[in-house]
Order: sequence, then C-alpha cells, then structure tokens
Amino acid sequence: MKLTELDHLPDGLLELPATELHNVLGGPTLIHLQGQNPQPLFVTVIQHGNETTGWDAVRRLLKSHYEFDQLPRSLSILIGNTEAAKHRLRRLDDQLDYNRCWPGGNFEDSDIGKMFQQVTDRVRSLSPIAALDFHNNTGLNPHYAAINRIRPEFLRLASRFSSKVVYFTMPVGTQSLSLSKLCPSSTLECGQAGEIHGTDHSMGFLETCLHLDNIPTTPMGAEDVHLFHMVATVRVNKDALFGFGHVPADIAFRENLDVLNFQELPDGISLGDINGGPAQPLVATDINGVDVTGKYFRFDRGQIETVREIMPSMLTPDRRVIQQDCLCYLMDRVHFEDHIEVTDHDPLPESIRRTDRPGEPSL
Ligand SMILES: [Zn+2]
Repeated sequence: MKLTELDHLPDGLLELPATELHNVLGGPTLIHLQGQNPQPLFVTVIQHGNETTGWDAVRRLLKSHYEFDQLPRSLSILIGNTEAAKHRLRRLDDQLDYNRCWPGGNFEDSDIGKMFQQVTDRVRSLSPIAALDFHNNTGLNPHYAAINRIRPEFLRLASRFSSKVVYFTMPVGTQSLSLSKLCPSSTLECGQAGEIHGTDHSMGFLETCLHLDNIPTTPMGAEDVHLFHMVATVRVNKDALFGFGHVPADIAFRENLDVLNFQELPDGISLGDINGGPAQPLVATDINGVDVTGKYFRFDRGQIETVREIMPSMLTPDRRVIQQDCLCYLMDRVHFEDHIEVTDHDPLPESIRRTDRPGEPSL
C-alpha cells in the first residue's frame, strides 16, 4: 500500500463527502497546506471510515475561512481509510483497524503499519505543534478528548476541546498514543457521526489550534480539567437475556441508559431490574481480563446496583454493539496534582499507577 503525499488540495476535494474521497484519492493521503507559521498542525480524519465528523470539519473550515485567505499556520491532513468510508464502514472485513496500526502497536509489520511508520517519520520531520485525531462513537456521549500522557501541554490541548479528558494507555497502536512521543497529541471523540454540532465544535477547535502560538507547559489546576481513567470493561453475561424498559427479560435495563454516560454516579445507583437468569448478569473485567465485577456492582437485591462511585462511558442502547462489543466502560476520576511535572519518563502519581490497567476504549 502506497501513501500519497500532496502539497495542495486536489480540485473539488472539499466538495466531497467522505464516501466519495476514495474515487479521487484512491487510498490514504497526506496533504500539506502552507500557512503563515510554517510549523504545522497535524490532523488525521477518517481512520474509521464511518466516522466522518473530522473530515466534514476540515472541509468546512477550509472552504469557509481559507479559500482565499492564507492559513495562520501550516496544516498537514492525513485522510485515512477512504476505502472503508466509501462503504460507510469503520473498516472492511479484510482490513486491520487503522487506529491500531501506528508504531508501538502490534501491527507494525502490516502494510498499513509500514505506511504509518512512514507517516510518523514524516510527522517527526515536520515537528508539528500538535497531532489531532478525530473520531465518532455510538450512544449518547458528550464530546471528549483522550490523551496518553499526563503532562500540562497535553491537558491544555485536550481541555481546549472539552473539560472532560480521558487518559488511556491501551489499546496500543493508536495514533494519539504513538505520536504522544513526538508532540502533544489527542484523540477527539466528537459524538455521533453526522451531528451538525459535532462538526461545528470540531471546526471551532481546529480554528483555535491553528491560531495558537504555542501550547503552554505551565501546569493546570485540578479545577480546570476533569481527567478520567479507563479502568474496566463491562459486558452482559452471554447467558443473560436483556432488554430495555419494562420487558420480561432476565435483565431489564432502565430506558435511556446512555444518559448516564460521563455522569459521576454515586454508589447505590440502579442500572436496571434483574428478573432471573445467571447470578452475575454483568461481567466487569480489567485490562488483564481479571473479573472485577464485585468491585463495581451488586446484584442481590433484584437490581443491578453500583457499589462505589464510578463514571460509565459508551453506554449504548444498541443491542448489536452490546452483544458484539460491550455494554460500557468504567472510568475513575484522576485526582492529579499541580506538581505533576514534565519529564521524559512520565512519572505517574500513585493513584494512577495503581489502576494503570484501563479497559479498551473503541477509539
Ligand atoms: Zn474511531
């Protein structure tokens, strides 16, 4: 697989929705646009073909603001899985997940892994101010940023997008994790694809980043950003029948379960009724696959109840996603201190190190 690199936008490209990019580009394409400040902002869109908000934000920004005016800062855009985008899919069946193939992941020897090594080398040579990677998700989730290093400049970059920031170190091979070794980087989760306010928000964020002179490395106060850490993945016991609302299934989840996403829930909150089925209707595992269900839930009172303060994300009413992937992820608030300082070794506070076994967000 060959990477196409361009120093201009092909005619008419900004008019095209994600589904039509493949006809013109034929595959992953890295486009460099010159701005007043030569140090570029590096932006990746459509690593997952059906997550189109990033591309829509880029093309709207360039069309509306910079068709005739020069960019305040150079912009390098990687347009990722155009082939999957053509089919409105995250990836094709015979493709690897692009956002697992960056250097440091498990697919460095694959075609796409080699290409992303090439992209990474190019990005390193450009010394970008920051690297951004735009994604969408399912269910009702607020927009949030994810980072892979807890350093002031990463927190400052991410918190320009959202006050809610998620820290993760797994899965490996994601762009933001890989490029976090080169520059401040972040994965931007922009809600569900096609939502206009996701595009508005992403476009505004891009515009902000293009106008930044630098990203300060001065520490942030704990009040300025809410940082959360993925600690567990929750699945429905495969022997349990489940539904939503008043249903006679083993588990009757409360309706609108996904309104709980990114809400800090106290203990004693019910996620639904238990009418029968297996004794342990939900299974929560940490990243090692260790069953940690009892740490978060109790089931002995006819309800699925939380037993400690916890924040879920990616709760979805989509039965297929629940069956194929998971019910949700659980996150802990990270109480970081102002004195977390910049070193090459990323010393993490003890509170994080203890739980440094996050679940796998589907970034
Ligand atoms: Zn994605």
